[in-house]
Amino acid sequence: MAEKSEIDQILIKFENDKTRLMDILLSINEIQGFIKKTDMQDISASLGISMAQVQETASFYHFLSLKPRGKYNIYLDNSITSVMKGREEVKEAFEHYCKTTFGKVSEDGLFGLFDTSCIGMNDQEPAAIINDKVFTNLTPYRVKHLAEDMRAGKSPDELMYEDYGNGNNADPDVKAMVNSHIRKKSIILNDDYQAFDFLSSKLKGHTPETVISEIEASNLRGRGGAGFPTGLKWRFGRRTDGKHRVIICNADEGEPGTFKDRVLLTQYPELVFEGMVVAGFATGSDIGLLYLRYEYKYLLRFLNRKLAEMRKKHFLGENISGMEDFNFDIRIQLGAGAYICGEESALIESLEGKRGEPRDKPPFPVEKGYLGYPTIVNNVETLATAVKILHHGADWYSGFGTKDSLGTKLLSISGDCRYPGIYEVEWGSSIREILAMCGAHDVQAVQVGGPSGMIIGMKDAGNMDNSELMKWYKPSGMMVAEKFFDRKLSYSDLPTGGSIMIFNNSRDLLGEVVMNFMDFFIEESCGSCSTCRNLPLVMKNKLQKILDGHGIRKDIFDLLDWGKVLKASRCGLGQTAGNPVLSSIFHFRHLYEQRIQSLAQFDSGFDLEKAIKETIKYVHKKPVFHHF
Ligand code: SF4
Repeated sequence: MAEKSEIDQILIKFENDKTRLMDILLSINEIQGFIKKTDMQDISASLGISMAQVQETASFYHFLSLKPRGKYNIYLDNSITSVMKGREEVKEAFEHYCKTTFGKVSEDGLFGLFDTSCIGMNDQEPAAIINDKVFTNLTPYRVKHLAEDMRAGKSPDELMYEDYGNGNNADPDVKAMVNSHIRKKSIILNDDYQAFDFLSSKLKGHTPETVISEIEASNLRGRGGAGFPTGLKWRFGRRTDGKHRVIICNADEGEPGTFKDRVLLTQYPELVFEGMVVAGFATGSDIGLLYLRYEYKYLLRFLNRKLAEMRKKHFLGENISGMEDFNFDIRIQLGAGAYICGEESALIESLEGKRGEPRDKPPFPVEKGYLGYPTIVNNVETLATAVKILHHGADWYSGFGTKDSLGTKLLSISGDCRYPGIYEVEWGSSIREILAMCGAHDVQAVQVGGPSGMIIGMKDAGNMDNSELMKWYKPSGMMVAEKFFDRKLSYSDLPTGGSIMIFNNSRDLLGEVVMNFMDFFIEESCGSCSTCRNLPLVMKNKLQKILDGHGIRKDIFDLLDWGKVLKASRCGLGQTAGNPVLSSIFHFRHLYEQRIQSLAQFDSGFDLEKAIKETIKYVHKKPVFHHF
């Protein structure tokens, strides 16, 4: 247990600054495994905020705990790709060898077992975080040895059962059993660029206006998924008055199936940081913040070392690269586990030490963001891409991709394919080409853009008209698979933040995939809007009713109606939480139709089978009275 003096030291380290509440809570959580009520009282008194404010933040995030956890805390990824690769067996093995069940701490206090949403390791599942270290490709056999080693008191570093991963995963400040799996490089990932070349030699020849104009000319759009024009965002930010301006790099990629930012931060951190500095120059910002999701905490020391190296080379700090009055520095803020913090205003709330709840807009962050300053939030990939564009020029960039979607996109590909990993492809690539690249066969469906995106099937023609579809139709066989899946990645057809999950014909799309996605949204809702708080659960229950064989046709229409109501939610999470159901009804309606009672028009709402089961449970719990 942490002494009071240790808590005081933490408060002093963060200068009793209430905006650093996340760091204070994370530090206490790290040394004693949880945050006590008395700690929160001390924090409240020292920071001059109410106890309720401290509790609000401390209770919001997955990786902060208000109750004691184990000496070893195991967070097992519950994303669909983990399930597909054998999560259930791994989970059972943990429960068997740790002698407790998920959601609990073992009686001896040694093990805490917890489910967690996607940890960004979909290319090497099942994966878990044990005391902040990532363990990939788990099997029941490996779990047995991990449990034995933990019982023997080994440290998380000593638990590693394989060599470290490739590239910078083996760096002494990373030492992670993670593999970067870069399968295809193009203009962003190729090795034609010397780190900081633009910053050290070319930036001097630019003004903020020429940098913004070049980015506008390139038509670069935000790579997080929303696709807002980057140049325009920079221009808005520059135009807004403020004592300070802020560049935020959003490295909170939590969309299940996305892991490209993990790879960029591991293998190309210089490119990302250089992008932040250049964005700072263009927008006249002096504060840089990289919000790193907790799941990637294993990269923190390595990334901070890279920042220290940049300061030594005068690429951060005052008068950067000898340019008078160009002052900019970067701090990394660790998240604490909340998907909603990927939403830019929720991320800003979290950066200020609060619950990650989205703000009402307007004002938008470019007008009033972090601490009220004009704030430009960019995605990791966007910033890395901006450097390459500025280095080579917008004309060069316009030679890649399609008319409405220029350049390339990093895809995180996982699921039923031979070569999961990172693929840099030109916008305009078809799903068919992508499936061929990653060695996918017998494909039933592809989830584009994660659970909040769209699930498409082989025969889905997207925006093709029917005559074109009929031209390509063949009765059966692989040719069909090759000819269909011809929708293209682009902002006008299939936009994506980068997650591509593949499901073959052995998968139960509704019972396994859609249900998993709905569980994800139910778990991750911040709870602020009644629509988002309630409807995903109601929709899941309705889907379960259909899967149980009690559905009627009206249930499908109910699901469609509720999905529309969800669109009225405050932020993107709620607005897209119905997408797994809506998109599967749209593209795989036959799977619903097969399970409903086709002739039944009336639903009494009474489930006989369930009622009998409940009654049996009840009878078994009650003492039996014999009247005669
Ligand atoms: Fe929170 Fe959901 Fe509302 Fe977004 S839509 S603010 S996540 S409750």
